[in-house]
Amino acid sequence: MNAISMNMVTLFYLVASVCFIQALKGLSSPSTARVGNVFGMSGMAIAVVTTIALMLKLREQLSSGGMGFGLVLLGVVVGGAIGAVAARRVEMTKMPELVAAMHSLIGLAAVCIAIAAVSEPWAFNIAARGAALPFGNRLELFIGTFVGAVTFSGSVIAFGKLAGKYKFRLFQGAPVRYPGQHIINLLVAIAIVALGLMFCFSSGATPAWTPFIVMAALAFVLGVLIIIPIGGADMPVVVSMLNSYSGWAAAGIGFSLNNSMLIIAGSLVGSSGAILSYIMCKAMNRSFFNVILGGFGGEAASTGGGGAQEQRPVKSGSAEDAAFILQNAESVIIVPGYGLAVARAQHTVKELVDKLTEHGVTVRYAIHPVAGRMPGHMNVLLAEAEVPYDQVAEMEDINGEFGQTDVVLVLGANDVVNPAAKDPTSPIAGMPILEAYKARSIIVNKRSMASGYAGLDNDLFYQPNTMMVFGDAKKVIESMVKAVE
Ligand code: NDP
Repeated sequence: MNAISMNMVTLFYLVASVCFIQALKGLSSPSTARVGNVFGMSGMAIAVVTTIALMLKLREQLSSGGMGFGLVLLGVVVGGAIGAVAARRVEMTKMPELVAAMHSLIGLAAVCIAIAAVSEPWAFNIAARGAALPFGNRLELFIGTFVGAVTFSGSVIAFGKLAGKYKFRLFQGAPVRYPGQHIINLLVAIAIVALGLMFCFSSGATPAWTPFIVMAALAFVLGVLIIIPIGGADMPVVVSMLNSYSGWAAAGIGFSLNNSMLIIAGSLVGSSGAILSYIMCKAMNRSFFNVILGGFGGEAASTGGGGAQEQRPVKSGSAEDAAFILQNAESVIIVPGYGLAVARAQHTVKELVDKLTEHGVTVRYAIHPVAGRMPGHMNVLLAEAEVPYDQVAEMEDINGEFGQTDVVLVLGANDVVNPAAKDPTSPIAGMPILEAYKARSIIVNKRSMASGYAGLDNDLFYQPNTMMVFGDAKKVIESMVKAVE
């Protein structure tokens, strides 16, 4: 293992990079996602084993014996075990929280590596023992620390907001705003850059620790400051944006350590996260730059939670009434949402659709890009129930068809079908929605008249052609299946 040459390291890193690119390609479609995952896991295994072999080689070269190799292995085993248990246990609806928690660790790792590299650059092959750190490396370490610290604290706040179960004010879904917020953020950012430059331009073999540590501390504060003004409804974009930040932090550290694998993998994560953030911003009609700058410009959509409920009358019916209407329709569109995932009713829905199809009803599923609690949540849910891909349509492909559809069955969805988005004065104004309100009849299943994630009332529920079927999605759909039989 120790005999690995630098050429072999480069070759294995190249193979791992190709695997990562194939993984991203595979994950772009539900039908190839499993293969994509296998590529991702293989790439990561190759990268980790190659890096361990490289470490052993460097340890020999340095002949210091002090690289704490045992500690590294312990970290791999303990970290790997915690990751495996967490991933196995996590419910699908809690996945964004897990992702936010993982991002925070990547950011923290970047900061720790940077501190170690500034402290003992010779151990990383950056500078000879006793020599000053070159300017380029100082700059890379400054940027890596800055982005890593912002990613860490920002992800911790995003985790708290997504979990929605902590009393701490900063972890609430509602945005935290105060006078002069953007000016304060700007001043903190300017101070970070000034301290970072002081660190970069300092001379001598002893690093300028004071500006470096104060800069890192302020970057942790900035991470909190830029995420707290963002409301719950914008959290999907924030999670994907932090994903991007964590990639750039890793790439920055990769430059310092001269590690091509970290640079490539970090850039892939950074750029794919940025592209996903852009796509999601478009889907939610939020400005990408406003989200990056922590809600600069005070977009109204960030209301997250707690809207007052109206007491208007609604028409409600039983699962059997709904089954009768569905059975007699020619065309049905099903809109799945977060509540369907909570009820774990995906298999029961498929059963219902199979029965309706046997009765000659044409059924399709309409997927909103931010339905559920993570990008692609509904696609994953339906794939789990082995729903044929040709029954599943994305928002832009199916929105034109609602007007000619007999029945829309909304299952545990709320914000993604809220016509309030068409009202310029609404907090979710401009967010593209699935235009379920245009259908001839609408059946909505949820447990109560409670609001969705954005905390808004939904006019769709009060339309004269809407019938509410109250109850847990799984139980309601099971009753519908029985009634169709
Ligand atoms: P919403 O959160 O708007 O609404 C879900 C509805 O499901 C609720 O109104 C709830 O009503 C109902 N529900 C909950 N449990 C059940 C159950 N067991 N059975 C039946 N119904 C149930 O979900 P949408 O999918 O429409 O919209 C997603 C929202 O989440 C958007 O605002 C989006 O911005 C946000 N978001 C999206 C993320 C993503 O990446 N996709 C990540 C984070 C947030 P009731 O309590 O009355 O049952």
